[in-house]
Amino acid sequence: MKAILELGGSEEEQVTGNSLARHLGVRAASVTGMLQKLAAQKPPFVKYEKHRGARLTMVGKIRALEVLRHHRLLERFLHDFLDYSWDEVHDEAERLEHFISERLEDRIAAKLGDPDTDPHGHLIPERSGAIRAREEVLLSKWACGVPAVISSVSDRDPAALREMTRLGLKPGMAITVETGSRNASLRVRIGDRTDSLRVSPTLASGISVLAGPDGRP
Ligand SMILES: [Zn+2]
Repeated sequence: MKAILELGGSEEEQVTGNSLARHLGVRAASVTGMLQKLAAQKPPFVKYEKHRGARLTMVGKIRALEVLRHHRLLERFLHDFLDYSWDEVHDEAERLEHFISERLEDRIAAKLGDPDTDPHGHLIPERSGAIRAREEVLLSKWACGVPAVISSVSDRDPAALREMTRLGLKPGMAITVETGSRNASLRVRIGDRTDSLRVSPTLASGISVLAGPDGRP
């Protein structure tokens, strides 16, 4: 359900079984089985049409946002209080997100001072399920020479996160793409620095930006 939420985007488009399977790294048959199960809940969590895909129902969306809030709060808690690095928190949060009570969630949120974002810059849904909309663009698709601010980075690949640490790239940072194309490395300048970094296409596809400097997240 979290994957449907993510892949459906702000338009809440129908998500195909194949794209879910690819995103989750599981077989298409497993996805179909799970979608059927979610659609058979009373009330149903998804509306599923065999050849077209799935969409969350209102109940499903509320549930998915709740789990997403758990996930992102846990990541921030593990990172800020238990000294996990940002490439370690995702897997741990993936396991814990299903088990924490609403009470523990509230305590964690209060201890953290109700943060807006997780360590990767992703917005944490509010307790009501509300989540701010922002039109992020992948760095790999951002125009050269136009100032941007890194808004979030993908948390799915720990090695990519370690590479970003090595390069000094993190959310909130002002950057400009000097040159580069979809298939070649980008040359990226951080803030006012005169030197530039080489960012591989794979890495750039895991970095999201907003127009800067006024687009600061
Ligand atoms: Zn995560």
